[in-house]
Amino acid sequence: MGNCCCKGAKEDISTKAVVYSVDPPSQPAQDVTPLNPYVHQPPPSASKAVPNHYVALYDYETAVDSLPFRKFDEFQIIDFTTTDWFLARKLTDNTEGFVPASYIAEFGSLKTYPWYFEVLSRKDAGVMLNKSVDGSYLVRPSETKPGCFSLSVKVPEMSKQTDDPNKKPNSIKHYIIRHSKENNTFFIRQQMPFKSIAELLEFFKSNKDQLGYQLTEAAKPLSSLPDLVVKTWEIDPKDIQLGAELGHGAFGMVYRGTLKGQTQVAIKTFKPGTMDTEAFLEEADLMKKLRHKNILSLLAIQTKAEPIMIITELMGNGALLDYVRKPATKQILKVKDQIDMAAQCADGMAYLEISGFIHRDLAARNVLVNESRQCKIADFGLSKLDEEYTASNTTRFPVKWTAPEAALYGNYSIKSDVWSFGVLLYEIITFGRVPYPGKNNKEVLDMLETEARMEKPNNCPDAYYGLMMTCHKQDPNDRPTFETLKFQLEDYFFGTTDREYQ
Ligand code: ADP
Repeated sequence: MGNCCCKGAKEDISTKAVVYSVDPPSQPAQDVTPLNPYVHQPPPSASKAVPNHYVALYDYETAVDSLPFRKFDEFQIIDFTTTDWFLARKLTDNTEGFVPASYIAEFGSLKTYPWYFEVLSRKDAGVMLNKSVDGSYLVRPSETKPGCFSLSVKVPEMSKQTDDPNKKPNSIKHYIIRHSKENNTFFIRQQMPFKSIAELLEFFKSNKDQLGYQLTEAAKPLSSLPDLVVKTWEIDPKDIQLGAELGHGAFGMVYRGTLKGQTQVAIKTFKPGTMDTEAFLEEADLMKKLRHKNILSLLAIQTKAEPIMIITELMGNGALLDYVRKPATKQILKVKDQIDMAAQCADGMAYLEISGFIHRDLAARNVLVNESRQCKIADFGLSKLDEEYTASNTTRFPVKWTAPEAALYGNYSIKSDVWSFGVLLYEIITFGRVPYPGKNNKEVLDMLETEARMEKPNNCPDAYYGLMMTCHKQDPNDRPTFETLKFQLEDYFFGTTDREYQ
């Protein structure tokens, strides 16, 4: 018999002699665990040939601009671009929209079974089973034997046994399910292999000779919601635990924290009185609509108690400006990495461009970087839907990042964002220098009127400076789209002689 992936396991296996009494499964083992026929059947339309075929693990109803669905609905995923949300087509009615990634699982995977719990300790399995009926069961990855699973069962009252009459009989039992890689079979006893865990469970549901009792039904979950995505955007303040400060925003402190005691998040708070709830909800509403791997994802909001809060994914390296200024970053970051970060920012902005948004405050201070050096555009406080936006005279704005037509006449558009992107390129390549070195805002405004431009920074490749300058064309219509910028940055090293910068 095959290679067991967890050798030497002594505990957890029932000590009761298990007599092999059925023929071993005759079908050849399959790579993919087949769907459990007792859980749900795929609809006839959902042929196994559907690529990127996923199944809903929970009901999902409320969030704006996403696709509502019921547990076991099936989808084809059209776009996996963001880690938290996928663009999907529901197979039953062909509707399309975003679905939270943690609410769905690949068709046929273990996660789609109601008895499988991917994150569950032995102790919590006991708590869960104690609230379930006799014979109920669940499967979880084994805590002690990596690569193996544990089958935890609530032993029916009648079958509890103990050799010692003074000892309380054990009501929860845990059996190790091993996997033979050689035969791709699963078993509790090596002599009784099954081609899937689902088949193994079905066997023990209809045979009591082996364990001394029959399995009955899947254990009742304590909570049916995953942790990362909350069911509604609005969450209860008691589900938020504030941790260390991450930074100071214009309206209040930003903290690291946890959501429901588990998911690491960033929590942006607003000092009471600094922003009315309506303006706050506008920023949140904007963020809800935007789903892209290079755009900061909103996870939840809290408006029921002061201070009101926006909860977003945690970006471990903080603001891009601070990140590139760190001495440690300067040592490791090569030009090709800087270009990659610029390309990611262009990708996020290209998404805003096709979605019809303008950002109006694009700068390295408003881009966040996570631990895998992924860049995400943030700070949508000033964003607007793309009707050319004219600011009032009294509006304060970051002069050195602002396009001439916006600075001088208050005309904001996606092309004024392209101008700001040119300044962001400067910040990235200079490791966070302040643009227009040595010049004050008044001098910069004068420069913009005369069409003078920033000089090429030291160590800046010519082609990169060329891109910056196309962003700084006087006529907004002459500036490239973000899509073009993204392609140019992604293809930067193709056919160039700038190899020395890589
Ligand atoms: P404001 O827009 O109100 O000025 P920011 O959103 O820019 O505030 O946040 C201020 C600082 O908090 C940022 O510069 C960054 O250091 C930190 N920060 C904000 N959001 C996050 C996040 N999601 N992950 C990690 N750090 C963050």
